[in-house]
Amino acid sequence: MPSLSNAAVRDIETVIHPYTNLDAFRTSGPMILERGEGIHVWDADGRKYIEGMAGLWCTSLGYSEQELIDAATEQMKQLPFTHIFGGKSHERAAEVAEKLKAIAPHKASKVLFCGSGSEANDQQMKLVWYYNNALGRPKKKKIISRIKGYHGVTVASASLTGLPNNHRDFDLPIAGVLHTDCPNFYRDAHPGETEDEFTTRMAANLEKMIIKEDPDTVAAFIAEPIMGAGGVIIPPEGYFPKIQAVLNKYDIYFIADEVICGFGRTGNMFGSQTFGIKPDSISVAKALSSAYVPIGAVTIGEDMYQAMIDESKKIGTFGHGFTYTAHPIAAAVAAKTLEIYEKRNIVGHVRSVAPRFEERMAKLNDHPLVGQARAKGLIGAIELVADKETKRNFDAKAAMGVTVQKACEKHGVILRAIGDVVAFCPPLIVKEADIDEIFDATEKALNDVEHVVAKEGLRNA
Ligand code: PLP
Repeated sequence: MPSLSNAAVRDIETVIHPYTNLDAFRTSGPMILERGEGIHVWDADGRKYIEGMAGLWCTSLGYSEQELIDAATEQMKQLPFTHIFGGKSHERAAEVAEKLKAIAPHKASKVLFCGSGSEANDQQMKLVWYYNNALGRPKKKKIISRIKGYHGVTVASASLTGLPNNHRDFDLPIAGVLHTDCPNFYRDAHPGETEDEFTTRMAANLEKMIIKEDPDTVAAFIAEPIMGAGGVIIPPEGYFPKIQAVLNKYDIYFIADEVICGFGRTGNMFGSQTFGIKPDSISVAKALSSAYVPIGAVTIGEDMYQAMIDESKKIGTFGHGFTYTAHPIAAAVAAKTLEIYEKRNIVGHVRSVAPRFEERMAKLNDHPLVGQARAKGLIGAIELVADKETKRNFDAKAAMGVTVQKACEKHGVILRAIGDVVAFCPPLIVKEADIDEIFDATEKALNDVEHVVAKEGLRNA
């Protein structure tokens, strides 16, 4: 183990790192990034990497977009802060809201801003409760999310998240949150089951859950079009229309969590459009500002808006809001980001390069370590297995995902291990040559790891 730099030691002694084994971290130390340009970042030792994960699925326009830097700088000079409580406002707020309304995959009436994806989903939960109280349906409050769904880490949004480590020892989930099946056909299909049979079973299970709970108590369903942090799980064709039909039958509000899939990632402006979802509301964050500044938002349909007005009349105020709701700098950057998506036709660009991404990803299916390689638009993953035939996993102690992630870093590409799934989500501005570079490096990394696996007999463990 090389000795740690002074910067690394300072970090270890002062900073808590999310999603990190805090014990192991004391020995390994951080990977400190120093600068970025285009799709590349450089670490503190001067090593250059392609950011193959767009940070955390978010830096859609790469790391040096001058128009965003200028938008933030201008706003900082003009009016660095105003809140929007009690009727105050600034022009950038309406500018972003208008742009979001124009592209939303449902008829949006208003926009409620916040600071992150977690806050967006937290707001969704509060609004669903508020709405049903306004409509005189105080029992209709439960929210169904999915196993392996990821919706954030606040008390409410972590409860919606369907991953054990977000619940364990945090005393979550809270009451009233239920988790239905994850549509992972590769892992969870019964022997001989077709995709059509599988998706029918998923919808039937959801309906059984709703009936068991009592439909009058179930208010909303939340789903990412493609599950990201749960392992890049792409639903089979037909899954969402069948789920949607069940929700419609029981008057259940559909929240599409577009925090990763929003703004072009899957080849349409929103993942909802790619997968035939007709949401009542969407949550957005991340690529809303290309992640240059924190901002999130929830779109509000007219029914919800009217209910909020009714509650305001009754209570005297809409009793919710953050100091940083529609923060002017974040709003200025988000407005510019949405303008860039439109004027540079980012969806068209994703569509033009996605075939190369999908084709290079599909080729990884031939690699002995890869059980399944999957992609849609510019998001994808490889699932590492010890045995392709039986889909048997490697021993967890081998930490195969992290091993491949580190091998990719050696070859100059940052990817992200989620257990034994390795995720890819490059900035949306990647060109075909960049995609080739990402996959050439990944192939080399997989070959390096395969060499060690064969030599050390790790498949037999
Ligand atoms: N929803 C989805 C789909 C996400 O992927 C994430 C974060 O990765 C969140 C919500 C939470 O967003 P944040 O980390 O900004 O709170």
